[in-house]
Formats: sequence, structure tokens, C-alpha cells
Amino acid sequence: MRQLMGISEEFAVLFLQGGAQMQFSAVPLNLLGTTGRADYVDTGIWSEKAIAEARRYAEVNVVASSKDAGYTHIPDREQWRLDPGAAYVHYTPNETIGGVEFHQVPEVGDVPLVADMSSNILSGPLDVSRFGLIYAGAQKNIGIAGLTVVIVRRSLLGRAQDVTPNMMNYTLQDKERSMANTAPTFPWYMAGLVFEWLEKEGGVEVLAERNERKARTLYECIDGSNFYSCPVSPACRSRMNVPFTLADPALDEDFLSQAAEAGLTDLRGHRFVGGMRASLYNAMPQEGVDALVAFMRDFEQRRA
Ligand code: PMP
Repeated sequence: MRQLMGISEEFAVLFLQGGAQMQFSAVPLNLLGTTGRADYVDTGIWSEKAIAEARRYAEVNVVASSKDAGYTHIPDREQWRLDPGAAYVHYTPNETIGGVEFHQVPEVGDVPLVADMSSNILSGPLDVSRFGLIYAGAQKNIGIAGLTVVIVRRSLLGRAQDVTPNMMNYTLQDKERSMANTAPTFPWYMAGLVFEWLEKEGGVEVLAERNERKARTLYECIDGSNFYSCPVSPACRSRMNVPFTLADPALDEDFLSQAAEAGLTDLRGHRFVGGMRASLYNAMPQEGVDALVAFMRDFEQRRA
């Protein structure tokens, strides 16, 4: 993972349990220090959940939110009300449910930047040195559930609150080489195989090209039709999760069942937003997207 992502020795790389949502607590417990204040950017349902959990421990300042606009864009960086004394700034580079993705790492000055990269880690090159901490559940681009990766700048270690459970304490887990718990050996082993596969494919640069092309194929199909539409503003559309709706929601169930018959499954949008969502993680080949687009065009022709 260090090799794939170019992670220097300034960072500890931890392989933990508890899923990404356990990090919603571990991050404030480990990083708040004595300031007690943290900045959060609210761009969707996962940001919202991270904020709600952090509020148990921290004085949370929501620096910007796109909630009123239905989470379909990213608030302008110029509008963020950052607190220069915050312990860290947390954001969600890819909102898995809303399909909103930051295409650049936001500039936040000297305050450590913390990112929930659960749904876009390893989807392309990343300058890890811009971050204080990155965390990601394994179950999208890394492997199978049961493993959570935390990449944390070593200079941020050693400031956990006294109440921090040992298993959530980064300093302890770093010392124990992520094996303070009995290690989740199978997900860990699987992650190793995925990393080897990624390396063999040519690394994250090659994956980035493939991911761009897959996403372009699907967005072009959606934008080129009056039948399908994507609610997310074009500047921040996700390459990993593409939400779209049909002009007539009464056709949703037909769309889903006929798609399933064609071998295209799990397209139902998250229950919070409805419509459809196609997830195009690293494991999805271009042929999968081509098949989806062919089905969508055919369905439109028959039913529009
Ligand atoms: N954050 C993001 C961005 C996610 O996509 C998910 C899972 N869909 C989570 C957090 C929660 O992950 P977990 O189930 O591992 O807690």
C-alpha cells in the first residue's frame, strides 16, 4: 500500500477493524488534543454521519454545507468558514450515496486535513503528504469488509484522550503493528492480493484512466438523453458512484427488474435518495459499463 500510494515513513499505516464508521469516533478521540474543536465540511450523508458522531466528543464547526441544495454540489472553497484553531478539518472526498466527489484536495492551511476515503481510495494518484489522516473501509477498492485502513501522520500521534478505547488508539496500534486485536487475517490477506493486482495492472495511474473512461461513458449516456438525468452538478460528479433518475419514476421497478434479467444488478439507488446508482469501483471493468449503457439505451427506446 505504501508503494502504491507513495506513502512516506512520516505516516503510520494501520490495518484496523470496526469499519469506516468506527473512525468517525476514533478520529476525534485521537486528534482533538486539548483544543476540543474540529472543522467539518458537510457534502452528503456520510459527512453528516461523521459530524453527528464527532459531536459526542468535539465542539464541531460545520464550515460549509450543501444540505439545503440536496447535496448536489460542493460549497465553494471561498465560502468555507474555517477555524484556524481547529484540531483538524474533516471532509468526505467521495460521497458514496450522493455521488459527489472532490476533484482536488482542498487547501486548508496548517490545520491537519482528515479524509474519509472509503469509496475512492486507490481510484487514482493522490498526494498523501497533503493530509494529516486518511481512513477507508476496505470494502470498495481494497477488498472485503472487516478491515479499515488508517494512514496517519506520525506527528499527530500521542495526543489521544484518556477515554480512548485501546483498540481505537492509533499510537498503541502503531506500536503493536496493527495487531493489538487478533488480526482479521482473511480480509487482510485479500487486501494484499488486491494490492498485487493493482501493481500488476500498472498502478493507480492506470486505474485512474480506466475510471475516468468508465465514468465518462455513463455520464455521456445520461446527459445525452432526455429520459435519464443526474442531479449532481458536473464539476463534482463522482467517478465511483453515479446516481441517476428516470424521467418517470413509475418505470423504476421495470428498469431494475429488466436490468437484473440482463445481468445488471444492484442498481437501486440508496433509500435516502431513490432513483438508480451505478458504482464503478476499481473492480468494475469497462465492459460492465458498456453493457449498462447498452441496456439503458434499449430501455429508453422501448419505454420513453
Ligand atoms: N464513509 C463512506 C464514504 C462510505 O461509503 C461508507 C460505506 N458505504 C462508510 C463511511 C461506512 O463504512 P462502514 O460500513 O465500514 O462503517
